Amino acid sequence: MRKTRPSAFSVVIVLNRSLLLFLVASAPIAQLDRVSGFEPDGYRFESCSVQMSSILSHTQESFVERIFSLLGKGKVHARLLYSHWMKMGSLEGLEVEPQARPLLEEMIRLTDFSVPGHRVAFEDDGTVKFLVELDSLECESVLIPMKAKSTLCISSQVGCKMGCTFCETGRMGLLRSLSVREIVSQVFIAKRVMKKRVDNIVFMGMGEPFDNFEAVMGALDVLTEDAGLGFGPSRITVSTSGLVDQIDAFTERADPALHLAVSVNAPNDAIRRKIMPVNRQWDMAALKRAMARYCENPRREILIEYVLMKGINDSLECADELAHYLRGLRVKVNLIPYNPQSRDRFAPPDEAVVDAFLERMRARGYLTLARRTKGQKIMAACGQLGNLQLRRKIFLDRSSQSHPGCA
Ligand code: SF4
Repeated sequence: MRKTRPSAFSVVIVLNRSLLLFLVASAPIAQLDRVSGFEPDGYRFESCSVQMSSILSHTQESFVERIFSLLGKGKVHARLLYSHWMKMGSLEGLEVEPQARPLLEEMIRLTDFSVPGHRVAFEDDGTVKFLVELDSLECESVLIPMKAKSTLCISSQVGCKMGCTFCETGRMGLLRSLSVREIVSQVFIAKRVMKKRVDNIVFMGMGEPFDNFEAVMGALDVLTEDAGLGFGPSRITVSTSGLVDQIDAFTERADPALHLAVSVNAPNDAIRRKIMPVNRQWDMAALKRAMARYCENPRREILIEYVLMKGINDSLECADELAHYLRGLRVKVNLIPYNPQSRDRFAPPDEAVVDAFLERMRARGYLTLARRTKGQKIMAACGQLGNLQLRRKIFLDRSSQSHPGCA
């Protein structure tokens, strides 16, 4: 699917006493900047040029302020335009009084409503993996139904530079970070374009969210905007591989109801250094201190993610050591049996070993769950986002750059 753009832009006006029903159909009104002088049912936009960033990168207040800075008026209608678009995903049914119609038209002319194109890569058992187009690249999002709720796993980067050895995305390297608009678009597409139910959002797709810190914080502001997408902070989890400085910044700035997940994956530095290069910059002691600072607020607890890999970190001794490491922190533990990937370097743990690890952690007093890896077939489980075709393309691009003479 290409960029979402209307084949026709129609405006129907119905006079009903003093009320003018201003109905804009077949929205989204994308790429108004590329259209000049079109006449939607008698409404002529002499020249259309987008003068503000995407509506998807704004909270309601920042959108209103931007419109006001451009027009010097229109705060009430800018608020209405923002909430209608973000809640409906179109301008259909947007009503304004007749005298406000020209002002609304002007706001629409100034606003970028474009939404990146997407395509569904795979759908099975309720799990949907879709790819969002970003210039010549793509990022991946996965909708995972879980009991009565549905969780959307979104990406913050294309690829990742952290290089965790068990992770498919890490093998791609970092191609680029996503903007606020691109992060929010993944949710907007799932909810408003694909019309899927999304109860929870997890930043566990491609990329290290804290390596794109400002954009992720900006996206959190937009996602939790009451007048827009309206996700309560307690429905969002941000996962990090353990960037200590950014955990501290998150501790400082984030709403206490937002959830933090930390990928620990090892009980000691010797193992963690081998599978997670980030441990060379911040060892487990530094990570624990940052987690303790985060937990100083009694409303906060951390989800500890632990990918179990056969013979690497799945012994009962590892469980004991992990329990000791986590002592004093307010945490829940999520065990994730490793999923075989495209180039198997590790093996999944035996089921009995997962059960034994789980029981040992529980016996040590930790609320511990083992994740069932839904979406395994489509490489949509943890650490498995990393589009194979995209990786091949990158490999070919790089090869041709390093060997420009090869035909
Ligand atoms: S596990 Fe997360 S931080 Fe590590 S390489 Fe993969 S995406 Fe990056």
